[in-house]
Amino acid sequence: PPPTPCLLQTGALVPLLEQPLQARYHVERLLDHDDPIAWLQAEGARFDGIVSSAGLGFSADLLPLLPRLRVVSSYGVGLDRIPVAALKARGVALATTSDVLNDCVADAAWALLMALARRVVEGDAYVRSGRWAEDGLNRFPLGRRISGARLGIVGLGRIGQVVARRASGFDMAVAYHSRRAVADVPWRHEPDLRALARNSDYLVVITAGGDGTRHLINAEVLEALGPRGFLINVARGSVVDEAALLEALQAGRIAGAGLDVFENEPRISEAMRAAPRTVLLPHVASATEETRLAMAVRVLDNLDAFFQTGRLVSPVE
Ligand code: NDP
Repeated sequence: PPPTPCLLQTGALVPLLEQPLQARYHVERLLDHDDPIAWLQAEGARFDGIVSSAGLGFSADLLPLLPRLRVVSSYGVGLDRIPVAALKARGVALATTSDVLNDCVADAAWALLMALARRVVEGDAYVRSGRWAEDGLNRFPLGRRISGARLGIVGLGRIGQVVARRASGFDMAVAYHSRRAVADVPWRHEPDLRALARNSDYLVVITAGGDGTRHLINAEVLEALGPRGFLINVARGSVVDEAALLEALQAGRIAGAGLDVFENEPRISEAMRAAPRTVLLPHVASATEETRLAMAVRVLDNLDAFFQTGRLVSPVE
């Protein structure tokens, strides 16, 4: 049999993935070395592949130290921390776990939307605090209607389309913004992001991250969303200008925000933690038992397929 391929692991991965990976491949972890660059200068020529994650990724600086590198298998779908162009230039195959997480990430966007609109978190605190019995319900503010409302989606990719599909059960009017209109979908394309925000009760952000979308949701877009509009971000923290968002929340210039991702995660500013009308999650949109298992399986399937056939199951084209 051919020799067992040698993989460089560039960050901590879920145990679910580390164990089967080590059973099938010869794996070494970058984080086990105090001076990873010096270690790779000596040992880098052994590695056939990298196993990485969307959250941690790795830098293009590693690539010259890995002359045998042929494949990268990443856990997650975000490419903002993966040196995609440099890999392409070298002809290194790149795989993610796209598609297996679409449903759960879309569900998480809906969980944020519904928790925000119907004040689920505040209601929970109200019951637990005993205020219901003391004050009755006159002091508990009303929520907002979801059914029949207008949903705007920023980014109608694999996940955005699932978010849109779910809206039909709520009889919502759906429109979306992306640079190109998507063919064969029933939802209205809005080339002007501010116009989309102006005409949305709920604006769900699910674009790619990285330089191309940095601060796409800026003060002007938030102004257009207005005091009756809610923002939901499950894409990347970088897509939203967080300082502008905080100002808008504090001044009541938007109705509220549901966030799974943040500019400086996991270090969330005091101001954000104290912000009114927000529901905050710790970047867990794909974090269900079922989907995390499917993602781990996909990372392995991509590697197995590559080393057996030269093809990937879910390549980044
Ligand atoms: P896709 O590549 O399928 O879709 C990306 C969408 O973003 C496309 O519709 C694209 O349309 C749009 N887009 C890209 N750049 C811009 C731009 N400058 N302006 C407007 N729209 C833009 O990705 P997925 O749906 O699979 O995933 C989307 C993102 O979700 C991932 O990149 C990842 O960062 C994030 N994510 C977050 C998770 C979490 O845990 N919170 C989990 C999984 C993913 P067009 O090119 O036409 O503009």
